[in-house]
Amino acid sequence: MSNSANPTKLKVIALDFDGVITNLNVDWDAALRLASTAAGYNIENLIPFYEATYGTLIFQKASKLIEQLELEALKDAELAPYTMEFLEKLAELKVSVYIVSMQSRHVVLKFLSKHGLSAYISDVVTRDKCPSKKAQVLYVLEKSHVRPEQVLLVDDSAGNITSCKELGINCFYFEKQQDPQKTKEMWDTILKRVRG
Ligand SMILES: [Mg+2]
Repeated sequence: MSNSANPTKLKVIALDFDGVITNLNVDWDAALRLASTAAGYNIENLIPFYEATYGTLIFQKASKLIEQLELEALKDAELAPYTMEFLEKLAELKVSVYIVSMQSRHVVLKFLSKHGLSAYISDVVTRDKCPSKKAQVLYVLEKSHVRPEQVLLVDDSAGNITSCKELGINCFYFEKQQDPQKTKEMWDTILKRVRG
């Protein structure tokens, strides 16, 4: 079989937000306290809380409060090195890019707009629509009409990668780097996989 007929060619990349294209310096202890106040009970982990309360008033209240912390953190959040170049190459290769994030939609859209990235992104899937990473990837699968093996999730959370692998998608573990050259190498490794 020739490469051009490779049935597992990647068509969609789902990029995590915090820890991949930027780093948000959110005080997560403060976020847990806000969520606990909104819920009226003690919350130790936000993700199960989001999943358990999704669609309720408690969820909306907590999500709004945490969004304030995220917006505050956004002020100092930088775009990861070489992200723009990476997205330009994906556009040339006709690969669709989605953002899958547990942040709020407003926060992600604001960041993308600030850095001139909006045009490169097919859709932004956040906790407002899907309260877990797995649900977000499922949404991307439904919306993009591709097979799981044509999707690559790029995420800095080993837990997200484990849960999303159950969907049959490809996953790339993105290591948080201080070194711009190492970040560039990760983007290049992903591009190599896209090109097959
Ligand atoms: Mg992350």
